[in-house]
Amino acid sequence: MEQRERRDTLPARALRREAACLLKAAGIEEADADAGQLLFHAAGFDAASYLLHAEEPLPEPVRRRFMESVRRRADREPLQYIIGEAPFYGRLFVVRPGVLIPRFDTETLVERMLPYTFPGARILDLCTGSGCILLTLLLEGNGPMKGTGTDLSDTALGVARGNAARFGVDASFLRSDVYTNVSGVYDIITANPPYIRTDVIASLDPEVRDHEPRLALDGDADGMRVYRSIIGGASAHLSENGVIGLEIGFDQAEEVSALMEASGFRKIEVTEDLAGRPRAVTGRRGGS
Ligand code: GLN
Repeated sequence: MEQRERRDTLPARALRREAACLLKAAGIEEADADAGQLLFHAAGFDAASYLLHAEEPLPEPVRRRFMESVRRRADREPLQYIIGEAPFYGRLFVVRPGVLIPRFDTETLVERMLPYTFPGARILDLCTGSGCILLTLLLEGNGPMKGTGTDLSDTALGVARGNAARFGVDASFLRSDVYTNVSGVYDIITANPPYIRTDVIASLDPEVRDHEPRLALDGDADGMRVYRSIIGGASAHLSENGVIGLEIGFDQAEEVSALMEASGFRKIEVTEDLAGRPRAVTGRRGGS
């Protein structure tokens, strides 16, 4: 109770420091940065308005909002879910619990696929999640193009549609288990499917393990289940010279390349991320 009263009157700067201590104690490495971001979010501060108000107590509703967000973060909920946004390729995508948070690593796949875009290209992005891959290709590629994103999760589809509207992109999204509801032929297929082996999930960071959707992570006992359906069905949905590009886990390059080879793909290439780990596999549809 005493502590509560003390917090009521603490200036913003001191409360921010206290929040950082709580986060540090919860095992969060970037405790200072996170406390700052949560404070700015709760109070609507930018750098200038924070400096102006740093020595004053926060208004009661703001203080309560901030401490509630700190409590969520201390429970290891990802910062991006709490503030409702995540950066990807220079844009802020809307995210919320139930949809995978865009990863910096996934920019590798986007970069790799951009040179394949061309005006009129039809892009199919499977397991689209927040829509970050599809929408970035449509926004950054050599368009205009036609984009379709699929996901099993209605939450993800809602978020992806919201992001399309946010960036003024015309794309369609449909509920589909890989190709089950997909018709037609595409020039580019992309996906960041669930690829983590089930037995590895328990060892992931609590942010991922306890808060991100299992559906977006779990690739079954060998991590390969969704790759099998994506690659196995790809030729039927790719145009003559169509290209497929898939994000992979650091140890999946060989298995995914072998699956593509077995399905008749050619020019199979592995691309590394900035840390030098294999992160994407691409291939071209073979002749029919
Ligand atoms: N790269 C994600 C992670 O390791 C996994 C995403 C996925 O399975 N596609 O958290």
